[in-house]
Amino acid sequence: VSGRWVIISSDRAKRPQPGPLGGCSQQSEACPFCAGNEQETPPEVLAYREQTGGPDGPGWSVRVVPNKYPAVITVSGTAHPEKLYESRPGVGAHEVVIESPEHAVSMALLEDRQVAAVLHAYRDRILDLGKDERWRHVLVYKNEGREAGATLDHVHSQLIALPEIPETVVNEIASARRHYESSGRCLFCKILEHETTEGKRTVDASERFSALCPYAPRFPYETWIVPKTHSAFFERCTEQEYSELAAFLRRILTRLIVLFGKLSFNYVIHSAPHRDGAQGYYHWHIEIMPKLAQAAGFEWGSGSFINPVAPEEAARVLRSAL
Ligand SMILES: [Zn+2]
Ligand SMILES: [Zn+2]
Ligand SMILES: [Zn+2]
Repeated sequence: VSGRWVIISSDRAKRPQPGPLGGCSQQSEACPFCAGNEQETPPEVLAYREQTGGPDGPGWSVRVVPNKYPAVITVSGTAHPEKLYESRPGVGAHEVVIESPEHAVSMALLEDRQVAAVLHAYRDRILDLGKDERWRHVLVYKNEGREAGATLDHVHSQLIALPEIPETVVNEIASARRHYESSGRCLFCKILEHETTEGKRTVDASERFSALCPYAPRFPYETWIVPKTHSAFFERCTEQEYSELAAFLRRILTRLIVLFGKLSFNYVIHSAPHRDGAQGYYHWHIEIMPKLAQAAGFEWGSGSFINPVAPEEAARVLRSAL
């Protein structure tokens, strides 16, 4: 009725559940993501090791493994076709990026070069999954903290490669294209230019990146990181850009943590589909969504959001946090 796709994934119900108090329940002996417990995860698809060490053993700095409880599966898939409805097999690739061999619980607490290695892992997996003809898009996202949907505390992010471009990205690309066709300019580049001049919603800037609260944010303190130079693809950043982005991303997360203490948040990386021609008018970015308010009846019923904090106020507070 709504035109919305839903992934039915019964295996997800078998995921480890948070402890009875909903707090941090894993110790490092019991944590499948800690170094030394590599056998607790499916075999790795990527790992960075300084010393020569075999796969699925310790000595790594960042490790990527298939999700043990995937929302979508690579090999086959079952659809349950019924005449009235539209359905497809739930195929895709669902991976977990383990961001540290130690039991760190927040990305903001990692060193800059460790975060840079995580960004490299995103790039390497996007490029590798992009070779598979079946996938049209790879979505990188992070759930940090229980309220953001994390079931394990150990710092990690995830990526999902899908045969379809996610609806949010399709919509962003469509409006970016409309804007490009009518004005000949990238909408994101234009927004950046406008926000830099206005200054009301800008949070921080480095040489190559800008952070701002968007004009119509869904959530309190929602913050976007946007590269200053036009680029549609996150995976095409230079080494220098990844290093700078790592430090910049950490600084933005630190601003939020200074303000709110331990904070649950999600972020997503929106990047152009690898086989799409959106290069000229789509502009990759990171959307950081702190979990300070819950979506409730109005949001679910209307598809719109009530945000109690104006973006100008959020930006002002974030600017003064450090
Ligand atoms: Zn751990
Ligand atoms: Zn642009
Ligand atoms: Zn976006």
